[in-house]
Amino acid sequence: QGNGTGAMEVPEWKKIQSGRGELGKRTSLSIKEQRESLPAFKMRKQFLDAVRQYQLLIVVGDTGSGKTTQLTQYLAEDGLANNGMIGCTQPRRVAAMSVAQRVSDEVGCRLGEEVGYTIRFEDKTSSNTKIKYMTDGIMQREILLDPELNKYSVIMLDEAHERTIATDVLFGLLKKTLKKRPDMKLIVTSATLDAEKFSTYFNECPILSIPGRTFPVEIMYSREPESDYLDAALTTVMQIHLTEKPGDILLFLTGKEEIDTSCEILYERMKALGPAVPEMVILPIYGALPSETASRIFEPPPPGGRKVVIATNIAETSITIDGIYFVVDPGFVKQTAYDAKLGMDRLQVTPISQAQAKQRAGRAGRTGPGKCFRLYTETAFQSEMLPTTIPEIQRQNLSNTILMLKAMGINDLLGFDFMDPPPTNTMLTALEELYALSALDDEGLLTRLGRRMADFPMDPALAKSLIMSVELGCSDEMLSIVAMISAVQTVFHRPKDKQQQADQKKARFHDPAGDHLTLLNVYNGWKNAGRNDAWCFENFIQPRNMKRAEDVRKQLVQILERHRLRVVSCGRDTLRVRQALCSGFFRNSARKDPQEGYKTLVEGTPVYMHPASALFGKAAEHVIYHSLVETTREYMHNVTAIEPKWLVEAAPTFFKVAGKDGMGMSKRKKAERIQPLHNRFANEDDWRLSAQKRQ
Ligand code: ADP
Ligand code: MG
Repeated sequence: QGNGTGAMEVPEWKKIQSGRGELGKRTSLSIKEQRESLPAFKMRKQFLDAVRQYQLLIVVGDTGSGKTTQLTQYLAEDGLANNGMIGCTQPRRVAAMSVAQRVSDEVGCRLGEEVGYTIRFEDKTSSNTKIKYMTDGIMQREILLDPELNKYSVIMLDEAHERTIATDVLFGLLKKTLKKRPDMKLIVTSATLDAEKFSTYFNECPILSIPGRTFPVEIMYSREPESDYLDAALTTVMQIHLTEKPGDILLFLTGKEEIDTSCEILYERMKALGPAVPEMVILPIYGALPSETASRIFEPPPPGGRKVVIATNIAETSITIDGIYFVVDPGFVKQTAYDAKLGMDRLQVTPISQAQAKQRAGRAGRTGPGKCFRLYTETAFQSEMLPTTIPEIQRQNLSNTILMLKAMGINDLLGFDFMDPPPTNTMLTALEELYALSALDDEGLLTRLGRRMADFPMDPALAKSLIMSVELGCSDEMLSIVAMISAVQTVFHRPKDKQQQADQKKARFHDPAGDHLTLLNVYNGWKNAGRNDAWCFENFIQPRNMKRAEDVRKQLVQILERHRLRVVSCGRDTLRVRQALCSGFFRNSARKDPQEGYKTLVEGTPVYMHPASALFGKAAEHVIYHSLVETTREYMHNVTAIEPKWLVEAAPTFFKVAGKDGMGMSKRKKAERIQPLHNRFANEDDWRLSAQKRQ
């Protein structure tokens, strides 16, 4: 004890699972046999014939039938990668990484050679790469660089049923690319039955169905609504473990915290039962999990034991785990939705749709007849759940997407070939936001600044702050902050049993001006200590996340250099950093409420300082925040104290100093009374005209 490294101790429940996989490694089937046992294999010839014959093809098949891992290999084996790469998009980063790993194992190459992946800030491909998995966001960026996608011979838009914004936009963009590239092939794959709709949209192209191989799944509903779904879920898992026949369990929860906590609780409950009960291997899987940990979920449990995988909806369709006989479905998912009251996207826990519930249940019937425990009533399923999930494009903020489309020269957004067009209002909000950021001019056309912003793979607000920091002479500092925010969720390590110690260490980095500069202090501290791990352990900082941030920082420097933007330091004059932040985040501003907490300047919505903030319990009157996180209330995350006049300077089209009702006030008071201006694009017809004028 006391050597500092204790801070990074692996939690108990993680210890048991490590090392077990080796023992029980699946030896019964060779990789070749496994590949040939997948439903996709029977369709191999038909698939390749269809690809040769048609430019566009839709493939439907149940999850786990081999679409993602096999179809790309068939194409490569058949010579379709000889004149360009086979690119396959995934809505999720973890899926792209995990699938690329699996396929490189099957092909027998090192990951990053013939088979690789690219996700934001991480490129694991080489000049030898023939099969490349990537997120749909990356594919969009590649179209921005080369609209004809000349590096590729085939594009597979995978998991199209997920209907992420990026995939939806790619539908329209790739349709255009195909016209310019008659030699290129496009394959759209889906796990559900929207195939007809896809086909109609894609010029009535043929549909290839991979016949399923599923077993019946018995559905059990709760008799009454559960008041605490988490507790109900864990109790159900224990009951299955103790009373049901062998077979692994898949539990769907909503996010990292919930999953980590559940793993710990289950571990404790198992420990309390002693050695008499069969072993339970508890495995978490969620988006932010490192790939090595993620690959462990595929290892079979030890003989006589049972595997419990606790997953976000990533295990609904993107990742298939064999051997699951029991599914526990509390009926919730965490998803982003635009919150008009806050004027921004917000992560919310919401009920799943009936389609998702069916998909989840189906995961229990892949290896044999299974059971699904729905922790909601049958009435709730029938009458409270939507039949299908609303596509992201119809519920999320579009400023990112619209900036990208504008950068591609697509100005007539209402005329863009969307499969399901976003609500006009959402588009107008995004246009207005981009206008306030000066990314668009008052005709709605991209400005030079806007074009630059589009080249940074991050939210427009963050890109703007970074670009403006060059002018303000503090880009060196801003780079570190932006890198830390973009690369990882947090660099702070706060183990459950040493929270106080960790908080004390963190407080030593706290900057009186707030969290952004606190992050800068951490980065500089780490750099000055020679980037060493011992320093990290001592200060409860996660070394691996620091290295990742450093790597992201380097990549951002390259983008700045491409635009001939200089890296300049402001030294101790960090006030400029705060001003630069205002130039991007002016919308996320709040003022201290005399009663309690804060109120946003734009809508007057109550928000609160997060207890982990460097400004918690401090007297900051005006602040800006990076994001809002809802737990028991709306908490501001990454908060910095500002002066209100900076907002007017940063966004003169968005804020003004208060007008007539400010008369008679002192100059200082007046400067504090600022209010949002009218929406430039509020009148849809005006905007439509300006868009058409440019045709
Ligand atoms: P689909 O895309 O049709 O849902 P996949 O190609 O993802 O199907 O999966 C095919 C099979 O490959 C499944 O049985 C799945 O369990 C297996 N598989 C995928 N990734 C891995 C992995 N990393 N390790 C072991 N098996 C895997
Ligand atoms: Mg798949």
